[in-house]
Amino acid sequence: MPTVRRLGNGTDGGLANDNLRQRCVTTTGGQGVHELAVCEAIVDTVTRHADGQRVERVEVRIGHFRQVVPDSLLFSWQLLTDGTDLGGCELVVDHVPAVIDCGACGAQTTLDLPIMLCRSCDSTEVTLVSGEEFLIASIDRAREVC
Ligand SMILES: [Zn+2]
Repeated sequence: MPTVRRLGNGTDGGLANDNLRQRCVTTTGGQGVHELAVCEAIVDTVTRHADGQRVERVEVRIGHFRQVVPDSLLFSWQLLTDGTDLGGCELVVDHVPAVIDCGACGAQTTLDLPIMLCRSCDSTEVTLVSGEEFLIASIDRAREVC
Protein backbone atom coordinates (compact mmCIF):
# COMPACT_ATOMS: atom_id res chain seq x y z
CA MET A 1 0.00 0.00 0.00
CA PRO A 2 1.38 3.40 -0.92
CA THR A 3 1.78 5.70 2.02
CA VAL A 4 0.36 9.21 1.96
CA ARG A 5 2.96 11.55 0.56
CA ARG A 6 3.92 14.27 2.90
CA LEU A 7 3.87 17.80 1.60
CA GLY A 8 6.91 19.95 1.81
CA ASN A 9 10.01 19.43 -0.23
CA GLY A 10 11.75 22.74 -0.07
CA THR A 11 9.28 24.73 -2.13
CA ASP A 12 6.96 25.59 0.72
CA GLY A 13 8.32 29.07 1.20
CA GLY A 14 7.59 30.17 -2.32
CA LEU A 15 4.24 28.50 -2.34
CA ALA A 16 3.09 30.23 0.84
CA ASN A 17 4.17 33.54 -0.60
CA ASP A 18 2.14 33.02 -3.75
CA ASN A 19 -0.91 32.12 -1.76
CA LEU A 20 -0.66 35.23 0.36
CA ARG A 21 -0.19 37.42 -2.68
CA GLN A 22 -3.14 35.82 -4.40
CA ARG A 23 -5.36 36.42 -1.40
CA CYS A 24 -4.41 40.08 -1.25
CA VAL A 25 -5.03 40.71 -4.93
CA THR A 26 -8.40 39.02 -5.01
CA THR A 27 -9.77 40.86 -1.99
CA THR A 28 -12.05 43.26 -3.87
CA GLY A 29 -12.39 46.59 -2.19
CA GLY A 30 -10.26 45.46 0.70
CA GLN A 31 -7.39 47.48 2.02
CA GLY A 32 -4.82 44.91 1.02
CA VAL A 33 -4.99 45.81 -2.67
CA HIS A 34 -4.24 49.46 -2.10
CA GLU A 35 -1.32 48.91 0.25
CA LEU A 36 0.12 46.24 -1.98
CA ALA A 37 0.06 48.58 -4.99
CA VAL A 38 1.62 51.38 -2.95
CA CYS A 39 4.21 48.98 -1.67
CA GLU A 40 5.08 47.76 -5.15
CA ALA A 41 5.81 51.35 -6.12
CA ILE A 42 8.08 51.73 -3.09
CA VAL A 43 9.90 48.47 -3.82
CA ASP A 44 10.41 49.56 -7.44
CA THR A 45 11.87 52.90 -6.48
CA VAL A 46 14.07 51.51 -3.73
CA THR A 47 15.39 48.76 -5.98
CA ARG A 48 16.34 51.34 -8.62
CA HIS A 49 18.09 53.56 -6.06
CA ALA A 50 19.81 50.68 -4.33
CA ASP A 51 21.88 50.13 -7.44
CA GLY A 52 22.67 46.57 -6.47
CA GLN A 53 23.72 47.45 -2.94
CA ARG A 54 22.10 46.12 0.19
CA VAL A 55 19.48 48.40 1.70
CA GLU A 56 19.05 48.31 5.48
CA ARG A 57 16.28 50.79 6.09
CA VAL A 58 13.69 52.68 4.08
CA GLU A 59 11.64 55.52 5.47
CA VAL A 60 8.44 56.58 3.76
CA ARG A 61 6.27 59.59 4.51
CA ILE A 62 2.60 59.05 3.81
CA GLY A 63 -0.11 61.64 4.21
CA HIS A 64 -3.35 60.92 6.04
CA PHE A 65 -5.40 61.39 2.85
CA ARG A 66 -3.55 58.57 1.14
CA GLN A 67 -5.55 56.29 3.41
CA VAL A 68 -2.77 53.82 3.72
CA VAL A 69 -2.93 51.58 6.77
CA PRO A 70 0.64 51.38 8.11
CA ASP A 71 0.21 47.81 9.34
CA SER A 72 -1.07 46.65 5.97
CA LEU A 73 1.79 48.44 4.29
CA LEU A 74 4.33 46.73 6.53
CA PHE A 75 2.66 43.40 5.80
CA SER A 76 2.84 44.04 2.05
CA TRP A 77 6.44 45.09 2.39
CA GLN A 78 7.27 41.83 4.12
CA LEU A 79 5.43 39.95 1.40
CA LEU A 80 7.13 41.69 -1.51
CA THR A 81 10.66 41.85 -0.16
CA ASP A 82 10.92 38.44 1.47
CA GLY A 83 13.43 36.38 -0.43
CA THR A 84 14.50 39.29 -2.63
CA ASP A 85 17.51 41.63 -2.43
CA LEU A 86 15.45 43.77 -0.07
CA GLY A 87 14.72 40.88 2.31
CA GLY A 88 15.26 41.93 5.91
CA CYS A 89 15.20 45.60 5.04
CA GLU A 90 13.31 47.66 7.60
CA LEU A 91 10.41 49.82 6.43
CA VAL A 92 9.61 52.83 8.58
CA VAL A 93 6.27 54.51 7.96
CA ASP A 94 5.96 58.15 8.91
CA HIS A 95 2.28 59.04 9.01
CA VAL A 96 1.68 62.71 8.18
CA PRO A 97 -1.57 64.24 9.53
CA ALA A 98 -3.88 66.14 7.17
CA VAL A 99 -3.74 69.84 8.02
CA ILE A 100 -5.54 72.76 6.38
CA ASP A 101 -4.98 76.49 6.67
CA CYS A 102 -8.06 78.67 6.65
CA GLY A 103 -7.95 81.64 4.27
CA ALA A 104 -10.81 83.35 6.06
CA CYS A 105 -9.81 83.26 9.73
CA GLY A 106 -6.28 81.88 9.62
CA ALA A 107 -7.00 78.91 11.85
CA GLN A 108 -5.27 75.62 11.25
CA THR A 109 -7.32 72.43 11.38
CA THR A 110 -6.15 68.85 11.54
CA LEU A 111 -8.58 66.71 9.59
CA ASP A 112 -9.71 63.18 10.25
CA LEU A 113 -11.99 62.99 7.24
CA PRO A 114 -11.25 64.47 3.83
CA ILE A 115 -13.72 67.32 4.34
CA MET A 116 -12.12 70.62 3.47
CA LEU A 117 -13.81 72.80 6.04
CA CYS A 118 -12.34 75.13 8.65
CA ARG A 119 -13.27 73.93 12.12
CA SER A 120 -13.23 77.45 13.56
CA CYS A 121 -15.41 79.36 11.08
CA ASP A 122 -16.77 76.67 8.72
CA SER A 123 -15.17 78.41 5.75
CA THR A 124 -14.29 76.33 2.70
CA GLU A 125 -11.55 78.77 1.70
CA VAL A 126 -8.90 76.44 2.95
CA THR A 127 -5.53 75.32 1.69
CA LEU A 128 -4.18 71.87 2.30
CA VAL A 129 -0.88 72.16 4.14
CA SER A 130 -0.11 68.47 4.50
CA GLY A 131 -1.79 65.12 4.15
CA GLU A 132 -1.27 64.19 0.52
CA GLU A 133 2.36 63.19 0.86
CA PHE A 134 3.59 59.98 -0.54
CA LEU A 135 7.31 59.98 -0.72
CA ILE A 136 10.34 58.00 0.21
CA ALA A 137 12.09 60.08 2.84
CA SER A 138 15.28 58.06 2.98
CA ILE A 139 16.97 54.94 1.74
CA ASP A 140 19.81 53.75 3.94
CA ARG A 141 22.21 51.52 2.14
CA ALA A 142 24.48 49.23 4.05
CA ARG A 143 27.82 50.89 4.56
CA GLU A 144 30.60 49.09 2.84
CA VAL A 145 34.01 49.27 4.38
CA CYS A 146 36.47 50.01 1.64
ZN1 LIG B 1 -11.58 79.62 9.39
